Amino acid sequence: MADTRIRVAVVGGGIGGLAAANALRHRDIEVTVHEQAPALGEVGAGVFLAPNGARQLQRWGLWDDVVAAGARLGEGSTYFRQDGTPVAPILTTDSSGWNAVFGMHRADLIDILARPLPAESLLTGHRCTGFEQRDDVARLHFGNGDVVEADVVVAADGIHSALRHHVVPPSMPVFSGSVAYRGLVAHESVPEWPTGASRLWMGEGKHFLVYPVRAGTLINYVGFVPSDEQTRESWSAPGDPDALRAAFAGWDPRVEDLLGQVETTYWWGLYDREPLPTWSAGRLTLLGDAAHPMLPHLGQGANQAMEDAAALATVLAHADRASAPRALQVYEHVRRERTSAVQRGARENGLRYDSSYEDLSVRDAEIAASTEFRRWIYDHDAVTDAEAAIARL
Ligand SMILES: Cc1cc2nc3c(=O)[nH]c(=O)nc-3n(C[C@H](O)[C@H](O)[C@H](O)COP(=O)(O)OP(=O)(O)OC[C@H]3O[C@@H](n4cnc5c(N)ncnc54)[C@H](O)[C@@H]3O)c2cc1C
Repeated sequence: MADTRIRVAVVGGGIGGLAAANALRHRDIEVTVHEQAPALGEVGAGVFLAPNGARQLQRWGLWDDVVAAGARLGEGSTYFRQDGTPVAPILTTDSSGWNAVFGMHRADLIDILARPLPAESLLTGHRCTGFEQRDDVARLHFGNGDVVEADVVVAADGIHSALRHHVVPPSMPVFSGSVAYRGLVAHESVPEWPTGASRLWMGEGKHFLVYPVRAGTLINYVGFVPSDEQTRESWSAPGDPDALRAAFAGWDPRVEDLLGQVETTYWWGLYDREPLPTWSAGRLTLLGDAAHPMLPHLGQGANQAMEDAAALATVLAHADRASAPRALQVYEHVRRERTSAVQRGARENGLRYDSSYEDLSVRDAEIAASTEFRRWIYDHDAVTDAEAAIARL
């Protein structure tokens, strides 16, 4: 009897692509990840893990690794005005009270996701240069001359996705008008900083976010400032620590003291895109930033990519080679509306954080009320959602 089990090729070995590989392997689906870089890696910065992403990592057997490598964020997590006036607590649980909110070093999360994958299913030095498909198979071409056939291709190749134009016409990214200065400071150089709390200061046109990572040994900061200079999307380059300090001069002394310890910082232009009208064409689908790049003002880009991975694996587990394209339609049906709402929500939160309000008490009330939207995000289980969609078919 012919083997009808699906073979999946993932393009991109970032958080989204590696999450997809874990989710698919969890469902016993054959998967290979192709990453262009010669080795997996990430910049020295943090990523905020929320219950909706943590729920999937737990499902894939990675919970203990997250607890060991992360810094759990809880009591004391607070929004402030720029002068240090407290505005509201930051939500650090889902509605059941599950405190699965962590600051993670990005490299640690990549490592946690890559470790369970067999070496032969994770191919670095593979830059995808071409894609074609027939009814029964998809084919990828790589810069190193390799050609790979698969039943499903997942483009998890980020905001610059080289494969997206096979699904939708090319479009322009939207520059937010802000750049993010990001970096890490050793906790021992700022010993008074809490190792179990996140803090966010909001000022005019700027905001400053701090949370610990790597079991509290490092403190991650992100300073969001306006810029006319349109850097390349997600372009990360060394920034000037003095320019960063100048941008937040006169803010809460806790912010100034932390910035006094900064020796190196990286600069990241903040872009998103309008929600796409479709994510799939035949045997090709998009995942993570390739599908829905969003501003970081809800800390949800990576978490939504993990949700995508979980939903995709759930629908493909119910498909075979012939029905795989139909399964991809179900996947995007389950995911598009939700990720569009999070993309929009991230833009709105950016306006709140940057204090774009005549009356700041209105903004403060909205920040307090935004807990409701956060709950909607945190309570979600992408697998339950995908299973419900399959049951309705
Ligand atoms: C300042 C800032 C802070 C953020 N903070 C958070 C946060 O706290 N929480 C959160 O959830 N999200 C956060 N995000 C968003 C999050 O980082 C991304 O949404 C997430 O990493 C998406 O991952 P991805 O795998 O889809 O894309 P990427 O991380 O961009 O990975 C794409 C991968 O594909 C590879 N690739 C590209 N082209 C090719 C090709 N042709 N062939 C082969 N490989 C290719 C790349 O080398 C890369 O490894 C933040 C973003 C910013 C800008």
